[in-house]
Amino acid sequence: MAPTAFVTGISGQDGAYLAKLLVEKGYKVYGGVRRLPEAPLPRLVELGIAGEVELCRFDLADLSMIQDAVERVRPDEFYNLGAQSFVGSSWQQPLYTADIDAVAVCRILEAIRARSPQTRFFQASTSEMFGAVREMPQSEDTPFRPRSPYGVAKLYGHGITVNYRESYGIHASCGILFNHESPLRGAEFVTRKITLGLARIAQGRQELLELGNLSAKRDWGFAGDYVEAMWRMLQQPAGDDFILATGTTTTVRRFVEAAGAAIGLEIEWRGEGEGEEGFDRRSNKRVVAVNPAFFRPVDIDVLVGNASKARERLGWSPAMDLSELAALMARTDHDRVARGAVTF
Ligand code: NDP
Repeated sequence: MAPTAFVTGISGQDGAYLAKLLVEKGYKVYGGVRRLPEAPLPRLVELGIAGEVELCRFDLADLSMIQDAVERVRPDEFYNLGAQSFVGSSWQQPLYTADIDAVAVCRILEAIRARSPQTRFFQASTSEMFGAVREMPQSEDTPFRPRSPYGVAKLYGHGITVNYRESYGIHASCGILFNHESPLRGAEFVTRKITLGLARIAQGRQELLELGNLSAKRDWGFAGDYVEAMWRMLQQPAGDDFILATGTTTTVRRFVEAAGAAIGLEIEWRGEGEGEEGFDRRSNKRVVAVNPAFFRPVDIDVLVGNASKARERLGWSPAMDLSELAALMARTDHDRVARGAVTF
């Protein structure tokens, strides 16, 4: 019989890539969605697997829906990728973020414990749990000091997963995921905002791209590489926690340059606080500007992950580097804008 997997967050970036991987490996894949869509989910369409996944109504806020899904499917593997995943929104919606990113993890674990204890569980934890960190690079042993409601909520989700593993012997694992991007990234995230904005500018459909802190550095990898490691974690004899990261950081500014270069766009910069007179008027194109409104209330320190445990125990390392990633995203968005086919 084909192995079964239940994936929450199937309509999102990682859910789509993971579903594709699992379908290719011969799994029967169930995907949790808040509302059954009238049209196929666009990210699954883009990956060519829209007809291969069985969608089930599933809301992380709703205990009975979670219990029903776990009891009905009794999956071999349960991947919890659903979340209020945008750090910025977590300051506007701290309680909602706590419910979906923290308490809901306990809801799933309780359902697994009581109704399907053989199910292996994956939790999408985040490098944002490190926050104000003093250790470079961060490993599985680095203390957590989250600096956003998102990071705080995810830390509970992480801790309760470890706790259910230790208390009840559930095969439960956390991937401490550093930023990972792709052409399927949501447009609210900075990398995609950049590639979509530059694609529109290159085609004369937008004048200006406004960004926050250009010096902010992130450890950016490719989502397709990261879902492979999630699957490998659940194939281990016991649950465990792993950092997934590239180990290299890049500034937002450098990402803009790499994305611009891939579609032949030369970037003109306009700095924070510079008025019109401070700006080079030789060209009337104002391509990238800094807008302090996009700064975080408090930013995290530089996060860079040490994924040597994943390398040694899972045989995993990321295959795509930053320039390739920026180019892939920029070219895909350039093509989508040209075809009028930006669906997310
Ligand atoms: P996305 O934002 O692309 O996807 C989030 C998914 O969660 C969507 O499918 C969304 O569904 C779903 N969701 C939101 N609220 C609920 C809810 N109440 N009930 C059920 N589903 C819900 O995120 P990613 O794919 O990028 O990330 C996957 C996971 O990894 C998330 O948990 C994220 O926090 C974590 N993570 C991601 C990182 C990254 O760089 N991508 C880094 C570290 C951690 P809908 O379409 O209905 O909104």
